[in-house]
Amino acid sequence: MSTLVLKFGGTSVGTTDLISSAAKIIQKEYEDGHNVAVVVSAMSGATNSLIEHVNSIGQENEAEYDVVVSSGEQVTAGLMSLALNKLGIPARSWLGWQLPILTEGDHKSAMITKIVPDKIEIEFKKKRVAVLAGFQGISNDNRITTIGRGGSDNTAVFLASSLNADRCDIYTDVDGVYTSDPKVTSKVRKLDKVSYEEMIEMASQGAKVLQTASVESAMKHDVNLHVRSTFNPADTGTQISRDIEESNERAVTGVAYSKDEAKITIIDLDDRPGVAAEIFESLSAKSINVDMIVQNNFIERKMTNLTFTVPMTDLKKSLDVITVLENQISFTRVLSEENLSKVSIIGSGMRNQPGIAAKMFTCLSENKINIEVIATSEIKISVLIDRSMTEKAVNALHEKFGLDQL
Ligand code: ADP
Ligand code: ASP
Ligand code: MG
Repeated sequence: MSTLVLKFGGTSVGTTDLISSAAKIIQKEYEDGHNVAVVVSAMSGATNSLIEHVNSIGQENEAEYDVVVSSGEQVTAGLMSLALNKLGIPARSWLGWQLPILTEGDHKSAMITKIVPDKIEIEFKKKRVAVLAGFQGISNDNRITTIGRGGSDNTAVFLASSLNADRCDIYTDVDGVYTSDPKVTSKVRKLDKVSYEEMIEMASQGAKVLQTASVESAMKHDVNLHVRSTFNPADTGTQISRDIEESNERAVTGVAYSKDEAKITIIDLDDRPGVAAEIFESLSAKSINVDMIVQNNFIERKMTNLTFTVPMTDLKKSLDVITVLENQISFTRVLSEENLSKVSIIGSGMRNQPGIAAKMFTCLSENKINIEVIATSEIKISVLIDRSMTEKAVNALHEKFGLDQL
């Protein structure tokens, strides 16, 4: 008998009718004789409106934020159990604290450290389906935590690993992982297989179909991960796995983008050991995720210009951090720019093929798109550009690398 973890995202459970249709997907797996654990997200839009409620009170308290914002998943878990009961399937809901799902780290972005699967295994013995609220856990001091936006994916993967599940299916509103976001590029193709590494890069560069941390967990624990459509469950979707042979045939596997970028440049910064460490440690202490970093030093002047990007939502917080540092380090000015996008090409085949960066930059220049910052890894090249050019850049690169034709 196989054990399956099925996760349903916000759009898949956006109404009670949709919850009832998703319950039929669960029913099929259950009636095929599998042990089934289900992870649900909040109904689409619910998390955002809970965040708006918190913001409208206007009081910073991340522990209480988590209490409020985690509640969307509780509603769906109860509704999904009811929908299963209506189909005659014995099921019950489980909240993070009831298992428990243990987390560490800051509220709003806690990390799951352990899921105790014992109670779910008892449910399986009784031939019952367990429906878990995704996105939430508890801290060492017994407070409710949340694990970052899109975190239900990671709840599902972690649960699959804890239960030693045969498969973890992430049901969403598209048929699988595509060469780019189907909402932005019309000629996208669905990928049958993507390597963990490529998927981590695609997710971290903005392909939100899977949360980055969930793919990292899947890779670490060898979870057999699939992305499938709630609206077309007959399609087998995309498998994310360790096998990268197929991926190696192509230099570029996908194009991803993120529109939430801001750039900060510190001008005429002291060029001495420890300055960068001081700046980035201070930003990290405030949980600010720095992404692209470029430094240009003028050796004869013992000065340097330091440019880096942060999520737009962290721009103000980042500038405040730098203002505080003014007493410790010397610089002349700080410039910042909003409304930028990062566009990235990703592919493990890049390792073996020269000229990919040149081809990317030529394509952007042919389309009159100016590059502000460049960052690379072994299997990724990212550029920072004006946000208004995002769709143009994504479509042009998708075509240039023949992703519509493979
Ligand atoms: P869920 O609510 O199910 O968690 P998300 O909205 O988080 O779903 O993720 C699914 C969305 O990810 C799709 O609707 C699609 O627009 C977007 N997306 C971005 N890049 C890709 C990609 N490369 N492949 C598939 N979907 C992508
Ligand atoms: N409901 C949460 C969010 O919108 C978590 C999730 O859906 O995965 O971010
Ligand atoms: Mg998601």
